[in-house]
Formats: sequence, C-alpha cells, structure tokens
Amino acid sequence: MVETKVLTETSVFGQIAEHQHEQVVFCHDHETGLRAIIGIHNTVLGPALGGTRMWHYTSEAEALNDVLRLSRGMTYKAAISGLNLGGGKAVIIGDAKTMKTEALLRKFGRFVQNLNGKYITAEDVNMTTKDMEYIRMETRHVSGLPESMGGSGDPSPVTAYGTYMGMKAAAKKAFGSDSLAGKRIAVQGVGHVGTYLLEYLQKEGAKLVLTDYYEDRALEAAARFGAKAVGLDEIYDQDVDIYSPCALGATLNDDTLRRLKCQVVAGCANNQLANENVHGPALVEQGIVYAPDFLINAGGLINVCSEVQGGNRESVMTQTERIYDITTQVLNRAAQEGSHPQAAATRQAEERIAAIGKVKSTY
Ligand code: NAD
Repeated sequence: MVETKVLTETSVFGQIAEHQHEQVVFCHDHETGLRAIIGIHNTVLGPALGGTRMWHYTSEAEALNDVLRLSRGMTYKAAISGLNLGGGKAVIIGDAKTMKTEALLRKFGRFVQNLNGKYITAEDVNMTTKDMEYIRMETRHVSGLPESMGGSGDPSPVTAYGTYMGMKAAAKKAFGSDSLAGKRIAVQGVGHVGTYLLEYLQKEGAKLVLTDYYEDRALEAAARFGAKAVGLDEIYDQDVDIYSPCALGATLNDDTLRRLKCQVVAGCANNQLANENVHGPALVEQGIVYAPDFLINAGGLINVCSEVQGGNRESVMTQTERIYDITTQVLNRAAQEGSHPQAAATRQAEERIAAIGKVKSTY
C-alpha cells in the first residue's frame, strides 16, 4: 500500500499555498551541480520578472523561503508602480566563488527558457552582467543586460531617483514641505544606490550623516558630499530628521526603533521592517512617517521593465517620478484607514491585481 503523507503548513506545498504562488520550479543538473528554485508568484499583470540570486544557503528550506518571500515582493513592487509585470525570483544554491561556471549558468538558462517567457530573469546578489550574458546564450528571457548589448544598464541611478521622490513625499507629509534644504539626513550604506541618492540630497542642501560597512567607502563619500561619517551602530542614534536605510533589510526592529529620533524613514533597502505587523504600526505610534520600501525603491524595476516592454530613459524617469504621487496617496490612505503605510501599499497593490484579474478573466 502506498502511504500518503498529510501536507502540513511547513510542507513545500503548505508554504507555496501560504504565499499563494502560482508555480515553483525546482531545477537540478547532475553534471554542473546546479540546484536552483524559480518562484513564480503571480502573473496576472504580466510575466513574472525578478533577479536570480546565488547564495550558499545553509538548508534547502532556507532557499525555498527566500525565493518565495522575494518573488512575492516583486509582485507588489510591480503592481503598485503601475507596471504590467508579475512577480518572480530565482535562487541558485551554492557558493558563487567556487561553483559558478559558464556551464552551470547556461544550464540554468535552459530552465528559464523552458518556462517560455512566464519568468524573466535579471541580476541579483552574486550575479553579474557577464553571468546574464551566459544565461542569454540559452534564453532571451533575460533583462538588465548592459547597454552595449541593448539592455537598460545599471538600475541604481533610477532606484536612487525613485527613493529621492519617495523621501520628498514623506517629508511633505511630516514637515509640511518637501524641501530637503537644511534637513538632517542619515544615510546607512553608501553603495551603488546610496551614492546616487547622496548626490540628490547634497544638491538640495541637506545636512548629511552617513555610514558604511567599509570605512574607506564611508570616509570617501563623506569627503565627496561634505557629510559626517559615523560608526556602523552609531547611525541609529543620530539627531536627524530623516533616516535612510540603503544597505540591509530588517534595520527597523525592536532595538533600533527605541533609538531613532527622526520623523521620516525613507530608503532603498529591501524588507526594512523586521516584522511588518509589529514594526509597521510601531512607527506610526512613534509619529514617524514611513515611506514603504517596495514602493520607493521600484525605480530599478521600472528601468528593467523598459528593456522588456519598451521605453526610453526619459519615459523611465517620468514614470519613476510618479513614485512621489503614489507615496502621497499611500500615506494619506494609511492615515484615513488608521493603518500603517506598508499595509496600505500592499492593499493598493493587491487591489490593482484583483481589478486587472477580473478584466483579463472576461477574455
Ligand atoms: P550595494 O551593495 O552597492 O551597497 C550597499 C552598501 O551597504 C555597501 O556599500 C555595503 O558596504 C553597505 N553595508 C552593508 N552592510 C552594512 C551595514 N551593516 N551598515 C552600513 N552599511 C552596510 O547595494 P545597492 O545596489 O546600493 O543596494 C542597496 C539596497 O537597496 C539593497 O538592500 C538592495 O537590495 C536595495 N535595492 C537596490 C536596487 C538597485 O537598483 N541597486 C533596487 C532595489 C532595491
């Protein structure tokens, strides 16, 4: 007799059901050692677009959890930005330094190709434009290619512009004016996006404090933008008007919320709230205006979307500028509903998907 195992919440299907994914593809290749998972969360608005991350996960469960969470986030980011894209993401399990080869990437490319455009990949952690070129040899469902290959190039300047727009909208809500002149702003992480953001903030006359994991990077940025560099942990204790997380996720947590003195949080990092249901409302209680991360960091996705669905630099920047108005809408909605901005942004994204889903189902 064949034994059937009852699916529990922690089973693979249980997790897929919990996040409401359409399809999850497990990819395996004996020759190259490829072990990858492609998560397709929702394709109501269009093909599921999202980067491929290569990481030495400590367990398969960790990899699955990562791909499910990240692909779901992409659905909301695209939906709230008015893009006709769904949400997807892929993870390759393994150490990028030792395991990443042309053969492995091309094998992965073939799995992407098998999905016939339902999933479009791009760069993410530990992947480079060169890697995208290898994947492109097996499938045309790749985005974020270098400009020299007809791609949209580095998304970071566009992400920074959207973050700047979101920050200004949040400032308007908190201070009654969206001018950042004279505002004291703490920027955590001065990498690709952080540096472009600092350019906008300096131009507007903000007073800047910054930090980075690499001290030399922080000192260089401080000299370039006339900012004060502080230690990694000191950034949370600064006497500032705005805190801008541009490095890691989960920096809004029980410890940091006690310490923050700002009135606005607006940065480009993904997944800033350690626990959405706890720290989203906590920010409201502290009187801090929070600009939802997946909304204000959508510039990079808008840029990539232009590569897939058409558009030029000018239309990309115009669309990214709309992040200001959408942030204002979301902040007003949260206030009217008595909820927090992240929840209001999520609802707004879900409503668009539901509405378009109904239109599509009539065909
Ligand atoms: P990046 O790697 O170029 O920059 C991140 C910087 O943060 C690095 O300089 C790093 O040294 C620093 N850092 C790491 N840990 C730190 C810590 N504990 N304290 C202070 N600094 C620390 O990355 P990026 O492309 O600039 O992206 C920044 C964030 O924005 C990431 O969370 C990323 O997921 C998110 N994001 C980026 C884009 C994009 O277009 N690049 C788009 C959407 C979201």
